[in-house]
Amino acid sequence: MKKVIYLIGVLIAWGGIAQDKQAIKYAKTIKVDDLRGHLQILASDEYEGRETGTKGQKMAAEYIANYFESLGLEAPVDNTYFQKFNLTSSEISTSYFRKGEEKKMVFEDFIYFSRAETSGEEYINIVIADESDSNIKSYKDAYVAYRVQGFTRMQDRIEKAKEAGAKGFIEIIEPDDAFSSTLSRFSSFMQRPGLGLDGRDNEGSKMVLLGRETISWIFEKEYDQLNAGDKAQVIFNADYLDKPTETENVLGFLRGSEKPEEVVVITAHYDHIGITNGEINNGADDDGSGTVTVLELAQAFTNAAEKGKGPKRSILFMTVTGEEKGLLGSRYYTDFNPIFPLENTVANLNIDMVGRVDEKHSDNPNYIYLIGSDKLSQELHDLSENVNTTYTNLELDYTYNDENDPNRFYYRSDHYNFAKNNIPIIFYFNGVHPDYHKPTDTIEKINFDKMEKIARLIFHTGWEIANREERIKADEDKVENVAGN
Ligand SMILES: [Zn+2]
Repeated sequence: MKKVIYLIGVLIAWGGIAQDKQAIKYAKTIKVDDLRGHLQILASDEYEGRETGTKGQKMAAEYIANYFESLGLEAPVDNTYFQKFNLTSSEISTSYFRKGEEKKMVFEDFIYFSRAETSGEEYINIVIADESDSNIKSYKDAYVAYRVQGFTRMQDRIEKAKEAGAKGFIEIIEPDDAFSSTLSRFSSFMQRPGLGLDGRDNEGSKMVLLGRETISWIFEKEYDQLNAGDKAQVIFNADYLDKPTETENVLGFLRGSEKPEEVVVITAHYDHIGITNGEINNGADDDGSGTVTVLELAQAFTNAAEKGKGPKRSILFMTVTGEEKGLLGSRYYTDFNPIFPLENTVANLNIDMVGRVDEKHSDNPNYIYLIGSDKLSQELHDLSENVNTTYTNLELDYTYNDENDPNRFYYRSDHYNFAKNNIPIIFYFNGVHPDYHKPTDTIEKINFDKMEKIARLIFHTGWEIANREERIKADEDKVENVAGN
């Protein structure tokens, strides 16, 4: 069976894509030395791990924009290469419960998280609930404190409390040692400033996790004496420090010669995780490798354009910020400010980690995991396969494309924000390695020969998508599948 499918694949390839000498010529301008040259800079200590909102990220943005300018790419955002936007950085470190002079402090006596509006100290009513919700009428305008026997999911309890008009949600964690371990685990994590898109993630109710001791203190009652429906009042200060952080996606635009309004978007995230425990995370593979690949692709396509062989459709080269904080830069682009209409966005090729070889392929570095190529468009998948057969002959590994793969990589990089808008995507990924998100993800470990091959595969794929007669189409039935997302 396998062989038959393979044969059909080859035949389609011969029928579908003939070798284009021009494409081969410009693919060859993508070179190991150029890739290394860019990465030596972006993954150097000077860039401090490129964390969103920091000096290192700004330096990287500047470097990329300067390079786009040197290539003569158009600056598509009000004549600049920068799509700037604000993120909210929240540090929840000031909230407490108070009764008279006595206080219970966040991250000592309870855990608190929220993006809701706050207004300093206020009296709040707390009502004890159980999972049967026997006293659901009393939830309105109160903070609902659940004692959990473990029959329902927290998400469902939160929903129910919200529906009943509750102002906040409290989960009582038992026994005591379970609470203290939750406290220590969450506290260090939650005290790092978090990032959300400014003014857009501020919905949602206030949420408190606490143990038996704090709830007994609030109710002035032994924990075992508490019953569903019991009420108490306490002063709660839900304030957190909020400071806006400006960050930017970097965009360079190459106008198509025949169908300029149709745009192929090529992305990689240029941010990384910065400094942790005093050590710089250079992020050479994640995603320095993708970023420099975008730079080389931009160079190859502009070289072609200068010689009158530019793409018929337009290509947007976009390196995005905020990926490591939750795909924020790409989400800002697709959800809030698409510089080019999404209806005219033909496809997205996203490159996130293409410079390393994983355990499984240690014998053959000439591979790449493809994710998502057939999720929305069989046509795109076939094109990608045919391009590879015609030009690059890499092993295309679809392991992570499996719906049931527990890693769910399809949802974990920037292409997803395009896919959820029914734009066909391909995600290029070399798989994980022990240096992932560690200070040891450095340039010495990058396999540049492999990276050059992957970059050329992506070049040919982009070339074909941009130059083929018919625009790549999403399949009707597949679009319906994702419409609910
Ligand atoms: Zn990444």
